[in-house]
Amino acid sequence: MSHNQLTESGRLHHFLSIEGLKRPLLTEIMDRAEQFSSISHQQVKKVPLLRGKTIVNLFFENSTRTRTTFELAAKRLSADVISLNINTSSASKGESLRDTLHNLEAMHSDMFVVRHHQSGAAEFIAQHVAPHVSVINAGDGCHAHPTQAMLDMFTIRRHKQHFPDLRVAIIGDILHSRVARSQIQALATLGVGEIRVIAPKTLLPTDCKTLGVHVYHDMNAGLKDVDVVITLRLQNERMQGALLPSSKEYYQCYGLTERKLSLAKPDAIVMHPGPINRGVEIASAVADGPQSVILEQVTHGIAVRMAIMSMTLGSQAELYEVTA
Ligand code: ASP
Repeated sequence: MSHNQLTESGRLHHFLSIEGLKRPLLTEIMDRAEQFSSISHQQVKKVPLLRGKTIVNLFFENSTRTRTTFELAAKRLSADVISLNINTSSASKGESLRDTLHNLEAMHSDMFVVRHHQSGAAEFIAQHVAPHVSVINAGDGCHAHPTQAMLDMFTIRRHKQHFPDLRVAIIGDILHSRVARSQIQALATLGVGEIRVIAPKTLLPTDCKTLGVHVYHDMNAGLKDVDVVITLRLQNERMQGALLPSSKEYYQCYGLTERKLSLAKPDAIVMHPGPINRGVEIASAVADGPQSVILEQVTHGIAVRMAIMSMTLGSQAELYEVTA
């Protein structure tokens, strides 16, 4: 990544990618999220940490969980938040991205949360905003989804504590998955013992080996004794040409069923970034089963996004005042 997301003193200014971030910073995000998650259980689910700040959600691509949890996170931090529907905005009247941004900046925005179908979009925006504005990447093309990766790490830590002891398997469409890319970077930075990817050859990136992962094409071998199982959706919207015979055949080989899950450790957790396609990458019995933490991931998304937003816009001292 060419754009620096840290200030000279090492504080987060933008949050664009996990790449280049060090373990203490990822740990700080999770520690802060831990403090924020208790706020969601209070009667008044708000802290005044970002009072007076203006946050704009700029979603150029559909989203349910990410957009809603970013909005809730901003509101719980007491920021003013606006979610812009790009399809009905001036972009559809031919306004360039740069002009849209400059208009939003003229309204004294402090942060843009950006989701875009093109890889590199959030970084491009970060390069063109005023110096005081922070940009958070809420998913860009096949490139990165760093807040999703951090909420996944937080969920894993909640259940498994010590990262170096873990074996984690990521199953499915690694090739088109921004989530998988960010997860692999985060897992590696946190020192996870063994990262496995399980996928057909057509759904693996050619540079897979350089990512530091162990590659499996067979579910039975790949799932053996793992602590964490992460399933991914087939990103059909990003596939060019037929990479798979059919979703039925995919389910037979790579769908996570109860039988295949029984090969993992008995206390293994099952994760999915959503949206899930039942009967394609995961069986309903597994998605709704006792080992599934899929809905927990959604809940943790709020606290983790509060942590990241407050770290880019707020100060450490303020946090302790509010949560002490
Ligand atoms: N929600 C995730 C993303 O935005 C995963 C997915 O769409 O499959 O990348």
